[in-house]
Amino acid sequence: MLSLDDYLLEAEQAHGHLCAGQVLGVRLAMLGLEKLSIDDPRGKDRKRLVTFVEIDRCATDAIAVVTGCRLGKRALKFRDWGKMAATFVDVSTGKAIRIAAKESSKALARSMHPEIESKNQQQMLAYREMPEDDLFTKQWVKVDLPAEEFPGYKGDRIVCAECGEGINFRREVLRDGRVLCRACAGERYYKVL
Ligand SMILES: [Zn+2]
Ligand SMILES: [Zn+2]
Repeated sequence: MLSLDDYLLEAEQAHGHLCAGQVLGVRLAMLGLEKLSIDDPRGKDRKRLVTFVEIDRCATDAIAVVTGCRLGKRALKFRDWGKMAATFVDVSTGKAIRIAAKESSKALARSMHPEIESKNQQQMLAYREMPEDDLFTKQWVKVDLPAEEFPGYKGDRIVCAECGEGINFRREVLRDGRVLCRACAGERYYKVL
């Protein structure tokens, strides 16, 4: 693993700016990897790790940088829960740890550095200095990861009986005896104009 500063440098480049979210995300991911004893997630251990993120904010980018887990590699899973938390799964052992930022860390950052006016600057510094237990909660968890969730999964591509579009990774839905994509099964997030 790299140092906090080295990861922050990379995170800043990937994300476009340095912010409190980057510090939080880098520390959160480093803690997860440390607990799983994964020290080279982007090198020799790259096939061991799947990461679930529960928010799409600044910290999410930092978590992707540290872990090397990306959406396009199917190693980064997004659960849109609006929570500053992530779960790191070691697929070689089944061990998994969920780490969440404590809600109290914001107030603690204020009390640590009342002299800094900018909230972002204040949190950036405080989140660097804060002891791990003030910043995060940790839980060992079990994540059921079916075969089709694994990065290297290879399966048949199914065609939707309604729209004719192809569907990967067993995302099809069986509805009244027909194989449908999730959009045609009623989960459409868009309206066709
Ligand atoms: Zn940011
Ligand atoms: Zn369809």
